[in-house]
Amino acid sequence: MRPISRAHLARQIAAAIQEPQCEGQSRVWTDWETAHAAAATPDQAAAAATPAVALCAGCPETVRCVERAELDSYTGLAAGSAWVNGTRRATSAVVLSPDPPQRRAG
Ligand code: SF4
Repeated sequence: MRPISRAHLARQIAAAIQEPQCEGQSRVWTDWETAHAAAATPDQAAAAATPAVALCAGCPETVRCVERAELDSYTGLAAGSAWVNGTRRATSAVVLSPDPPQRRAG
């Protein structure tokens, strides 16, 4: 029997997320992630992430969202945190990544 891939598990978890607070916010979420990725200082990074963190604070899907971010090696903002290649970071962490953020919000 073949092992289930991380990508497949991530898709299953994404499908199970039923009540994301970020639903319909994909455009503004991308703006927040872009600003966070472009931040040059910890204060700028934390400020850029603040709206996303506030939205996540009221979300009932945070546990699944963390699992998904880890499994799909997410880079961007999710589950009230910053992520780089599936590793959780403080929102004040300066990403300094040449890669554009991925799309998260539904
Ligand atoms: S990024 Fe995750 S925790 Fe934040 S609002 Fe969207 S689904 Fe919820």
